[in-house]
Amino acid sequence: MTIQWFPGHMTRARRQIEDKLKLIDIAIELLDARVPMSSRNPMVDDILKGKPRLILLNKADLADPKETERWMAYFSARGFASIAVDSSTGSRVNEIPVKVREILHEKIQRMLDRGMNPRAMRALIVGIPNVGKSTLTNRLAGRHIAATGDRPGVTKGQQWIKVGSEMELLDTPGILWPKFEDQLVGYKLAMTGAIKEQVLNIEDVAYFAARVLAERYWPEMQERFGLGEPPSDLDDNMQIVAVMEQIGRNRGCLVSGGRVDLEKVSGIILREMRAGKLGRLTLEAAPPAGRE
Ligand code: GDP
Repeated sequence: MTIQWFPGHMTRARRQIEDKLKLIDIAIELLDARVPMSSRNPMVDDILKGKPRLILLNKADLADPKETERWMAYFSARGFASIAVDSSTGSRVNEIPVKVREILHEKIQRMLDRGMNPRAMRALIVGIPNVGKSTLTNRLAGRHIAATGDRPGVTKGQQWIKVGSEMELLDTPGILWPKFEDQLVGYKLAMTGAIKEQVLNIEDVAYFAARVLAERYWPEMQERFGLGEPPSDLDDNMQIVAVMEQIGRNRGCLVSGGRVDLEKVSGIILREMRAGKLGRLTLEAAPPAGRE
Protein backbone atom coordinates (compact mmCIF):
# COMPACT_ATOMS: atom_id res chain seq x y z
CA MET A 1 0.00 0.00 0.00
CA THR A 2 1.34 3.40 -0.92
CA ILE A 3 0.16 6.32 1.10
CA GLN A 4 0.91 9.88 0.14
CA TRP A 5 1.20 11.73 3.40
CA PHE A 6 -0.14 15.24 3.13
CA PRO A 7 -1.03 17.30 6.20
CA GLY A 8 -4.70 16.38 5.81
CA HIS A 9 -3.90 12.66 5.84
CA MET A 10 -1.74 13.05 8.91
CA THR A 11 -4.47 14.88 10.78
CA ARG A 12 -6.99 12.22 9.77
CA ALA A 13 -4.66 9.36 10.72
CA ARG A 14 -4.10 10.96 14.09
CA ARG A 15 -7.82 11.49 14.69
CA GLN A 16 -8.61 7.91 13.72
CA ILE A 17 -6.11 6.62 16.27
CA GLU A 18 -7.34 9.01 18.94
CA ASP A 19 -10.91 7.73 18.44
CA LYS A 20 -9.70 4.17 18.84
CA LEU A 21 -7.70 4.99 21.97
CA LYS A 22 -11.00 5.46 23.80
CA LEU A 23 -11.80 1.81 23.19
CA ILE A 24 -8.54 0.20 24.25
CA ASP A 25 -6.44 -0.56 27.32
CA ILE A 26 -3.06 -0.72 25.62
CA ALA A 27 -1.33 0.35 22.41
CA ILE A 28 1.06 -2.01 20.67
CA GLU A 29 3.67 0.11 18.87
CA LEU A 30 5.24 -1.81 16.01
CA LEU A 31 8.77 -0.86 14.92
CA ASP A 32 11.19 -2.43 12.44
CA ALA A 33 14.01 -4.00 14.47
CA ARG A 34 16.52 -3.04 11.72
CA VAL A 35 15.65 0.66 12.04
CA PRO A 36 13.86 1.13 15.36
CA MET A 37 14.25 4.90 15.37
CA SER A 38 13.68 5.58 11.69
CA SER A 39 10.53 3.43 11.68
CA ARG A 40 9.11 5.39 14.61
CA ASN A 41 6.46 8.05 14.10
CA PRO A 42 7.86 11.37 15.36
CA MET A 43 4.68 12.24 17.29
CA VAL A 44 3.86 8.83 18.71
CA ASP A 45 4.29 9.82 22.37
CA ASP A 46 2.02 12.77 21.88
CA ILE A 47 -0.58 10.78 19.94
CA LEU A 48 -0.72 7.89 22.39
CA LYS A 49 -0.85 10.33 25.31
CA GLY A 50 0.33 8.16 28.15
CA LYS A 51 -1.69 5.07 27.19
CA PRO A 52 0.01 1.94 28.47
CA ARG A 53 2.21 0.72 25.65
CA LEU A 54 4.09 -2.34 24.50
CA ILE A 55 6.81 -1.86 21.88
CA LEU A 56 7.40 -4.67 19.40
CA LEU A 57 10.64 -4.84 17.46
CA ASN A 58 9.23 -6.68 14.45
CA LYS A 59 11.25 -8.38 11.68
CA ALA A 60 13.74 -9.33 14.39
CA ASP A 61 14.63 -12.31 12.17
CA LEU A 62 16.36 -9.85 9.81
CA ALA A 63 18.05 -7.72 12.50
CA ASP A 64 21.36 -8.15 14.33
CA PRO A 65 20.42 -9.92 17.62
CA LYS A 66 23.05 -8.07 19.70
CA GLU A 67 21.79 -4.73 18.44
CA THR A 68 18.21 -5.76 19.13
CA GLU A 69 19.19 -6.43 22.77
CA ARG A 70 20.64 -2.92 22.96
CA TRP A 71 17.51 -1.38 21.55
CA MET A 72 15.37 -3.28 24.06
CA ALA A 73 17.58 -1.94 26.87
CA TYR A 74 17.21 1.55 25.40
CA PHE A 75 13.41 1.35 25.44
CA SER A 76 13.41 -0.25 28.87
CA ALA A 77 15.46 2.67 30.24
CA ARG A 78 12.70 4.93 28.96
CA GLY A 79 10.01 2.94 30.73
CA PHE A 80 8.79 0.83 27.80
CA ALA A 81 8.58 -2.94 27.82
CA SER A 82 9.47 -4.46 24.47
CA ILE A 83 9.59 -7.83 22.73
CA ALA A 84 11.55 -8.76 19.61
CA VAL A 85 9.24 -10.71 17.33
CA ASP A 86 9.09 -12.23 13.86
CA SER A 87 5.50 -11.90 12.70
CA SER A 88 6.18 -13.75 9.46
CA THR A 89 6.81 -17.04 11.32
CA GLY A 90 5.10 -16.09 14.57
CA SER A 91 8.27 -16.43 16.63
CA ARG A 92 7.67 -15.01 20.15
CA VAL A 93 4.29 -13.63 19.11
CA ASN A 94 2.72 -15.80 21.84
CA GLU A 95 4.55 -13.70 24.44
CA ILE A 96 2.47 -10.65 23.52
CA PRO A 97 -0.70 -11.44 25.54
CA VAL A 98 1.45 -12.43 28.52
CA LYS A 99 3.39 -9.17 28.40
CA VAL A 100 0.17 -7.18 27.92
CA ARG A 101 -1.22 -8.64 31.14
CA GLU A 102 2.03 -7.90 32.93
CA ILE A 103 1.89 -4.24 31.88
CA LEU A 104 -1.79 -3.97 32.83
CA HIS A 105 -1.60 -6.00 36.05
CA GLU A 106 -2.66 -3.07 38.26
CA LYS A 107 -5.77 -2.45 36.20
CA ILE A 108 -6.61 -6.14 36.29
CA GLN A 109 -6.00 -6.25 40.04
CA ARG A 110 -8.35 -3.28 40.57
CA MET A 111 -11.11 -5.17 38.75
CA LEU A 112 -10.50 -8.21 40.93
CA ASP A 113 -10.50 -6.05 44.10
CA ARG A 114 -13.90 -4.70 43.12
CA GLY A 115 -15.20 -8.23 42.75
CA MET A 116 -15.35 -7.89 38.94
CA ASN A 117 -14.49 -10.66 36.57
CA PRO A 118 -11.55 -9.18 34.61
CA ARG A 119 -12.55 -8.85 30.98
CA ALA A 120 -10.16 -9.40 28.08
CA MET A 121 -7.65 -6.56 27.73
CA ARG A 122 -8.15 -4.54 24.53
CA ALA A 123 -5.26 -3.63 22.31
CA LEU A 124 -4.61 -1.55 19.17
CA ILE A 125 -1.62 -2.06 16.88
CA VAL A 126 -0.06 1.16 15.56
CA GLY A 127 2.84 1.71 13.19
CA ILE A 128 4.03 3.16 9.90
CA PRO A 129 3.19 1.43 6.58
CA ASN A 130 5.00 -1.86 5.87
CA VAL A 131 6.20 -2.38 9.41
CA GLY A 132 4.14 -5.59 9.61
CA LYS A 133 0.81 -4.56 11.15
CA SER A 134 -1.39 -6.87 9.05
CA THR A 135 1.08 -9.76 9.25
CA LEU A 136 1.05 -9.49 13.05
CA THR A 137 -2.74 -9.12 13.16
CA ASN A 138 -3.13 -12.32 11.17
CA ARG A 139 -0.65 -14.10 13.44
CA LEU A 140 -2.42 -13.01 16.59
CA ALA A 141 -5.79 -13.91 15.10
CA GLY A 142 -4.52 -17.29 13.93
CA ARG A 143 -6.31 -16.72 10.63
CA HIS A 144 -6.38 -14.33 7.71
CA ILE A 145 -8.09 -11.02 8.38
CA ALA A 146 -9.01 -9.10 5.23
CA ALA A 147 -6.92 -5.98 4.87
CA THR A 148 -9.29 -3.23 5.90
CA GLY A 149 -7.09 -0.15 6.00
CA ASP A 150 -8.78 3.03 7.05
CA ARG A 151 -10.12 4.92 4.08
CA PRO A 152 -11.31 8.47 4.10
CA GLY A 153 -15.04 8.79 4.40
CA VAL A 154 -15.58 5.11 5.15
CA THR A 155 -16.82 4.48 8.64
CA LYS A 156 -17.18 0.89 9.61
CA GLY A 157 -17.93 -0.85 12.85
CA GLN A 158 -14.89 -1.88 14.83
CA GLN A 159 -14.36 -5.59 15.04
CA TRP A 160 -12.59 -7.23 17.93
CA ILE A 161 -10.34 -10.19 17.27
CA LYS A 162 -9.99 -12.62 20.14
CA VAL A 163 -6.41 -13.52 21.05
CA GLY A 164 -6.82 -16.36 23.51
CA SER A 165 -9.29 -15.62 26.29
CA GLU A 166 -7.47 -12.68 27.84
CA MET A 167 -6.79 -10.27 25.02
CA GLU A 168 -8.75 -8.67 22.20
CA LEU A 169 -7.36 -6.75 19.27
CA LEU A 170 -8.99 -4.09 17.10
CA ASP A 171 -9.05 -5.46 13.55
CA THR A 172 -7.98 -2.19 11.90
CA PRO A 173 -4.52 -1.06 13.01
CA GLY A 174 -3.61 2.59 13.43
CA ILE A 175 -1.52 3.73 10.47
CA LEU A 176 1.08 6.38 11.34
CA TRP A 177 3.32 8.41 9.07
CA PRO A 178 7.11 8.10 9.10
CA LYS A 179 9.54 10.89 9.92
CA PHE A 180 10.10 13.25 7.01
CA GLU A 181 12.43 15.86 8.40
CA ASP A 182 15.59 13.76 8.19
CA GLN A 183 16.63 12.66 4.70
CA LEU A 184 18.67 9.76 6.05
CA VAL A 185 15.52 8.34 7.66
CA GLY A 186 13.94 8.13 4.22
CA TYR A 187 16.98 6.32 2.84
CA LYS A 188 17.06 3.88 5.74
CA LEU A 189 13.39 3.07 5.26
CA ALA A 190 14.06 2.60 1.54
CA MET A 191 16.95 0.23 2.35
CA THR A 192 14.54 -1.99 4.29
CA GLY A 193 12.10 -1.86 1.38
CA ALA A 194 9.49 0.11 3.35
CA ILE A 195 9.58 2.96 0.82
CA LYS A 196 9.27 2.07 -2.82
CA GLU A 197 12.25 2.62 -5.07
CA GLN A 198 10.18 4.67 -7.48
CA VAL A 199 10.01 7.36 -4.78
CA LEU A 200 13.76 7.61 -4.24
CA ASN A 201 16.55 7.15 -6.74
CA ILE A 202 17.86 3.55 -6.52
CA GLU A 203 21.51 4.63 -6.88
CA ASP A 204 21.12 7.09 -4.02
CA VAL A 205 19.51 4.46 -1.81
CA ALA A 206 22.30 1.98 -2.65
CA TYR A 207 24.92 4.66 -1.99
CA PHE A 208 23.53 5.19 1.52
CA ALA A 209 23.30 1.43 1.97
CA ALA A 210 26.97 1.02 0.98
CA ARG A 211 27.92 3.79 3.40
CA VAL A 212 25.95 2.36 6.34
CA LEU A 213 27.22 -1.16 5.61
CA ALA A 214 30.82 0.04 5.28
CA GLU A 215 30.48 1.73 8.64
CA ARG A 216 28.70 -1.04 10.53
CA TYR A 217 29.20 -4.33 8.68
CA TRP A 218 32.41 -4.10 6.68
CA PRO A 219 33.54 -7.74 7.27
CA GLU A 220 30.18 -8.97 5.91
CA MET A 221 30.46 -6.62 2.90
CA GLN A 222 34.03 -7.63 2.30
CA GLU A 223 33.24 -11.31 2.31
CA ARG A 224 30.05 -11.18 0.28
CA PHE A 225 31.37 -8.89 -2.45
CA GLY A 226 35.07 -9.77 -2.41
CA LEU A 227 36.36 -6.37 -1.31
CA GLY A 228 39.71 -5.20 0.07
CA GLU A 229 40.36 -2.51 2.64
CA PRO A 230 37.45 -0.47 4.07
CA PRO A 231 37.10 3.20 3.05
CA SER A 232 39.35 5.37 5.24
CA ASP A 233 36.84 8.22 5.28
CA LEU A 234 33.14 7.42 5.19
CA ASP A 235 32.29 11.05 4.46
CA ASP A 236 34.32 10.92 1.27
CA ASN A 237 31.68 10.28 -1.40
CA MET A 238 34.25 9.10 -3.92
CA GLN A 239 35.43 6.33 -1.61
CA ILE A 240 31.87 5.02 -1.21
CA VAL A 241 31.33 5.17 -4.97
CA ALA A 242 34.65 3.33 -5.37
CA VAL A 243 33.26 0.53 -3.16
CA MET A 244 30.18 0.34 -5.37
CA GLU A 245 32.33 0.27 -8.51
CA GLN A 246 34.49 -2.50 -7.09
CA ILE A 247 31.39 -4.56 -6.38
CA GLY A 248 30.26 -3.85 -9.96
CA ARG A 249 33.57 -5.04 -11.44
CA ASN A 250 33.55 -8.18 -9.28
CA ARG A 251 30.02 -8.97 -10.42
CA GLY A 252 30.58 -8.12 -14.06
CA CYS A 253 28.22 -5.12 -14.12
CA LEU A 254 30.04 -3.31 -16.94
CA VAL A 255 28.75 -1.24 -19.80
CA SER A 256 30.55 -0.36 -23.02
CA GLY A 257 33.93 1.28 -22.45
CA GLY A 258 34.43 -0.74 -19.27
CA ARG A 259 32.45 1.64 -17.10
CA VAL A 260 30.57 0.18 -14.17
CA ASP A 261 26.80 0.07 -14.49
CA LEU A 262 25.95 1.74 -11.18
CA GLU A 263 22.23 1.15 -11.51
CA LYS A 264 22.78 -2.58 -11.84
CA VAL A 265 25.23 -2.67 -8.90
CA SER A 266 22.72 -0.71 -6.84
CA GLY A 267 20.08 -3.34 -7.50
CA ILE A 268 22.48 -6.09 -6.47
CA ILE A 269 23.50 -4.41 -3.21
CA LEU A 270 19.91 -3.69 -2.16
CA ARG A 271 18.50 -7.06 -3.23
CA GLU A 272 21.19 -9.07 -1.47
CA MET A 273 21.04 -6.96 1.66
CA ARG A 274 17.25 -7.31 1.90
CA ALA A 275 17.41 -11.03 1.20
CA GLY A 276 19.68 -11.44 4.22
CA LYS A 277 22.74 -12.47 2.14
CA LEU A 278 24.94 -10.24 4.28
CA GLY A 279 23.53 -11.69 7.46
CA ARG A 280 21.23 -10.10 10.02
CA LEU A 281 21.72 -6.35 9.90
CA THR A 282 20.63 -3.45 12.07
CA LEU A 283 21.07 -0.18 10.22
CA GLU A 284 21.11 2.16 13.20
CA ALA A 285 22.59 1.75 16.67
CA ALA A 286 20.70 2.44 19.89
CA PRO A 287 21.88 5.75 21.34
CA PRO A 288 24.18 5.22 24.31
CA ALA A 289 22.59 5.50 27.76
CA GLY A 290 21.70 9.05 28.66
CA ARG A 291 21.66 10.31 25.06
CA GLU A 292 18.87 10.52 22.51
P1 GDP B 1 1.70 -3.25 7.23
O1 GDP B 1 1.65 -2.27 6.10
O2 GDP B 1 2.24 -2.61 8.48
O3 GDP B 1 0.38 -3.94 7.50
O4 GDP B 1 2.77 -4.36 6.84
P2 GDP B 1 2.56 -5.87 6.29
O5 GDP B 1 1.97 -6.73 7.36
O6 GDP B 1 1.83 -5.80 5.00
O7 GDP B 1 4.08 -6.33 6.06
C1 GDP B 1 4.93 -5.71 5.11
C2 GDP B 1 5.93 -6.73 4.61
O8 GDP B 1 6.79 -7.15 5.67
C3 GDP B 1 5.28 -8.00 4.07
O9 GDP B 1 6.02 -8.41 2.93
C4 GDP B 1 5.46 -9.01 5.21
O10 GDP B 1 5.54 -10.34 4.74
C5 GDP B 1 6.79 -8.57 5.79
N1 GDP B 1 6.91 -8.90 7.23
C6 GDP B 1 6.05 -8.57 8.21
N2 GDP B 1 6.51 -8.99 9.41
C7 GDP B 1 7.71 -9.61 9.18
C8 GDP B 1 8.70 -10.24 10.03
O11 GDP B 1 8.58 -10.29 11.27
N3 GDP B 1 9.80 -10.75 9.40
C9 GDP B 1 9.97 -10.67 8.07
N4 GDP B 1 11.10 -11.20 7.56
N5 GDP B 1 9.08 -10.08 7.24
C10 GDP B 1 7.96 -9.56 7.78
